[in-house]
Amino acid sequence: MTVHQPFLDSPVTVLPGIGPRRAKTLAKLDLHTVRDVLFSFPRAYKDFTRVFRPDEVDDGKEQLVHGDLVDLTERSISGGRRLIQGRLFGANSYLNLTWFVVHKGRGSSYLFRRLQKADKLWVYGLVKTGLWGPEMTSAEFFHRPPGHLGLVPIYPLVASISNEMRVSWVKAALQHLEDIDEILPNWLLDQYVGRRVALKEIHFPKNAESLERARQRLVFEEFFLFHLGLQSGTHRQLGVQHGPDGQLVKHYFKRLPFELTDHQKQAIDDVRCDMEAPYQMRRLIQGEVGSGKTIVAEYAAVKAVDSRGQAAVMVPTEVLARQMAERFKEALTPLGISVGLLVGNMTTKSQEETRQRIQLGELDVIVGTHALITDKVQFLNLTLAIIDEQHRFGVRQRLALTDKGNVDLLVMSATPIPRSLALTAYGDLDTTAIRQLPAGRQKVETYLINPRQRNDVYRFVTKRVSLGEQAFVVFPLVEESEQLDLKAAVQEMENLKEGPLRTVQVGLVHGQMGKEKEEVLNAFYRQEIDVLIATTVIEVGMNIPNATVMVIENAERFGLAQLHQLRGRVGRGEKQGHCFLIPYTMSETVKERLNVIRNSNDGFEIAEADLKIRGPGDLLGVRQSGQPLFRIGDIVDDRDLLAAAAEEAKKLLEINPSLSQYSSLQQELNRQRPSS
Ligand code: ADP
Ligand code: MG
Repeated sequence: MTVHQPFLDSPVTVLPGIGPRRAKTLAKLDLHTVRDVLFSFPRAYKDFTRVFRPDEVDDGKEQLVHGDLVDLTERSISGGRRLIQGRLFGANSYLNLTWFVVHKGRGSSYLFRRLQKADKLWVYGLVKTGLWGPEMTSAEFFHRPPGHLGLVPIYPLVASISNEMRVSWVKAALQHLEDIDEILPNWLLDQYVGRRVALKEIHFPKNAESLERARQRLVFEEFFLFHLGLQSGTHRQLGVQHGPDGQLVKHYFKRLPFELTDHQKQAIDDVRCDMEAPYQMRRLIQGEVGSGKTIVAEYAAVKAVDSRGQAAVMVPTEVLARQMAERFKEALTPLGISVGLLVGNMTTKSQEETRQRIQLGELDVIVGTHALITDKVQFLNLTLAIIDEQHRFGVRQRLALTDKGNVDLLVMSATPIPRSLALTAYGDLDTTAIRQLPAGRQKVETYLINPRQRNDVYRFVTKRVSLGEQAFVVFPLVEESEQLDLKAAVQEMENLKEGPLRTVQVGLVHGQMGKEKEEVLNAFYRQEIDVLIATTVIEVGMNIPNATVMVIENAERFGLAQLHQLRGRVGRGEKQGHCFLIPYTMSETVKERLNVIRNSNDGFEIAEADLKIRGPGDLLGVRQSGQPLFRIGDIVDDRDLLAAAAEEAKKLLEINPSLSQYSSLQQELNRQRPSS
């Protein structure tokens, strides 16, 4: 008998138009199988449910508008660019349209020529009230009515993959819904729509209500799976009992060049108790970047080695792994502890060699990426697992690591989560928060700036640069998928570069750049570039002590957590840091939110405030969260579903701890474990 492989589990190359090259690009979005494509949901929807007339548009909404295109003009402006203007006329009203394009050659631009062909036009974009009435900038346009009226999905994209391609792949995947089984227990199906319906509706919703039902179901499912993994993996089992602090630990503390903060001492005490107790440690240390979590991790590792165990440290990226390994080596090698590195980007031979040394126990501490959790890695006596930035790993990966021994688990997270949510978000993990920064750290000065004073801000930037310091300028680009959106942002960046910042060295990065992005970042790192203008793609781990100024344009479009994270990129060295928030629109809520950032430097406090201020999630709008913990769920906006999922997972595990009566569910949980 041949085993039939479900279509959904086939590699993406079975989909139309995907060859090996495109498959490689898709792998960057973490899309490997057809199932991945089906479970990668739209990040937003275009509202094509209704066609509006120019007299019906609403300020602040994204709308599809139809009318006659009149008064179309194109003229050159600075920097080889063109300004295209026109008006959409209907029902005695006008909607003003503007596009910017880069066109250095003679004659009309391509965009202009395409527009010239239209006399009736459908445009889609954000309506704003301008000096001369309603206007739309960088609108997407069509010469015919869009084929499909309804909510149109917008997917996260990378270079060379268009939204249309993703739509066609999802459609192909949806032909095979019979491969999808229901996984929720029956008693939940009165409350949540079925899995197949939800999958269909999340991609191609009939209307806002059916979309909401689909989303509820899928968010619940995501939280439910997360909690099943969490709760079934965290039963207080008997585990290793590490001995009391020994010579190595004493030596380690003696070599520390600074005094520990009180919060660090508390965290170390918590870890000490857990590790010496006969049960398995399951502890989460929360603390912002720079709060000194790594010291706690180092302590735990030294303690494990003191008891003749091995420690594994898993971090999400190779860059971070290398940095972390360096730090561990620096601190631990002098104690006679051997530290190794294992990442995918090493030669097969040296990976092989490292694995052997792990197995023989020649390496005491091993730092690495996912490469640590493959079956090929076997430890002599792993007694401690440390996972950094755990939300970047699934439960499956956590389990894959902890399954390699009878281990104590220490998880570190730099994403502050409000206390009221920590329990539901992290289930059974015990949590310790490090809320103090080490002494001597300066507070970044934060200012709220009226856009009219922008030029003063950039004068300040050039002044700091003349003193040898560096600066970031950040523009929000929610998701860099839409060409026109991206063009508008790149335009703004170019304007800055050629205007207020023309006297300094400027580098530009955005998400759709390939290799050049790395090059620009490296140049900034080497101080060959003074100012880095970026969309929000500045890597989390990026540490540039010489950067002292952060300018955030259109600041009201960022979530509070994001703003706080961005601000954390400056003022990491000796010199005073400055952060300028420039909102383009001002309302009471905007003011309230930005004042939270201005008045607080405490990520936990900011997270609590965010929770209070934020209303119910705006489904069609921008999701404001900082770093996503989940694929579709948002722990703040969907906190009720999160609590419900925690509850239901607990209930199910009480009824059937092994889940033996729920084979589809079991399968889904297993699917989340890495196969290699
Ligand atoms: P995290 O891991 O939370 O991002 P780190 O452990 O990397 O933070 O600490 C940030 C920096 O602060 C490191 O250079 C570290 O050596 C230093 N540091 C940590 N704890 C203290 C302390 N108690 N006093 C002074 N400096 C400290
Ligand atoms: Mg223990």
